[in-house]
Amino acid sequence: MVAQGEPVNTFGQSAGQPAEAQRSDASKSAGQSAELPAAAPSSPLTSATDADASGCVGTLDIGGTWIRAAVVTPAGEILVRSRRPLPTSEGGRAVVDTCLDALGEARMRIGCHTLERIGVSVTGPVDPRTGKLFTPPNTGPVLAGLELGEALSRAACLEVRVDRDTNAAALGEHRCGSARGTANFVFITVSTGVGGAVMLDGRLIRGADGVAGEIGHICVERGGPRCGCGRRGCVEAIASGPSIARRAEAELRAAEGAELRAAEGFAQTRAVTKSVEGSTAAASVAARAGEAVAAPISSQTSSFSSQASSFSSQTSSPLAERLRSGRPLTGKDVDECAAAGDPHAIRALDAAAAAVAGMCVDMANVFNPERIVVGGSVAITHPDWIARASELVAREALVPANREGIVVPAELGDDVSLVGAAFL
Ligand SMILES: [Zn+2]
Repeated sequence: MVAQGEPVNTFGQSAGQPAEAQRSDASKSAGQSAELPAAAPSSPLTSATDADASGCVGTLDIGGTWIRAAVVTPAGEILVRSRRPLPTSEGGRAVVDTCLDALGEARMRIGCHTLERIGVSVTGPVDPRTGKLFTPPNTGPVLAGLELGEALSRAACLEVRVDRDTNAAALGEHRCGSARGTANFVFITVSTGVGGAVMLDGRLIRGADGVAGEIGHICVERGGPRCGCGRRGCVEAIASGPSIARRAEAELRAAEGAELRAAEGFAQTRAVTKSVEGSTAAASVAARAGEAVAAPISSQTSSFSSQASSFSSQTSSPLAERLRSGRPLTGKDVDECAAAGDPHAIRALDAAAAAVAGMCVDMANVFNPERIVVGGSVAITHPDWIARASELVAREALVPANREGIVVPAELGDDVSLVGAAFL
């Protein structure tokens, strides 16, 4: 309870309140309420009271586009949520202010005056011990080097726990989703990126620098597509939504290029033939060359005819038509083109499914999990990937790690990190 007359920040904490729940040194220097943004005024959506919200955690999920906030019960239920665009063109202070603004609105909407702490899920890499972000590849420079945990704790006068979004998601699935009741599992998310987390003996593995579990950068195709991390052939460079779109387009362009070269080769050969045929003075030469030239022309004409037919079908393929619209290809475009039978889209999706399945075999061999939970928008859109990966693990993983039905879909959908941040 806040004493009358004390300065109060947007989280209902007294600025002079003991810092027993605070984690970082910075959070102990309370009295920063003057820097806090005012909570957005809003009508309560529910009749939830402070008592209803007892033990609730304020959670934040910072992605490439949005900062989402929620108040989450100890059972993992989201009571209320809000969101703000990630201020990508402003500095780190604007990110912190936007986090507080979004969380303040969520809290005000249900009249929740106290929070146990704040849990933050953010695209990695991040040091969970300090809450400092490194250089997240999917959010531009705005988050690079940001001391997020310290800044939030100082402003909110609350304990703040920050971790990679996949670690938060794994905790969410462990408490409320597909990994309930397991102490050993691997979480994989396939979305705009590919990431993961590993829990062994009931504990997330973090490694020396807190970045263990970045399994999206396992190389599954030597010399494959270039990944954002700089290497080639990472799972992320093959199976993420943007990677699938790039590969489908590359497949189409390669096919078109091959046809164009074949067409040019045919035209050049025909020009040579006409020149030879038109030279009466070289009739004897033509007669001698006839066998050498005519045969290739004959075979190339035949080849061109069949390829021209193929070219014609490709220029009118669903994928080619989408590309002619001039807008960037999306994963959804590829899905729709594959459903319409486009061979390039089908090949790109097949490569993605194979990469995920191969990664699951590696995960089974390396960590011997009870389950491999696969989530993320791309994976959930392709439920057949789950069965394919499960079959491959059963067939190729080492005995006895090759458990039947080991690969299962995630349950919490888009909210997984927002919920899981409550359990950091
Ligand atoms: Zn990579």
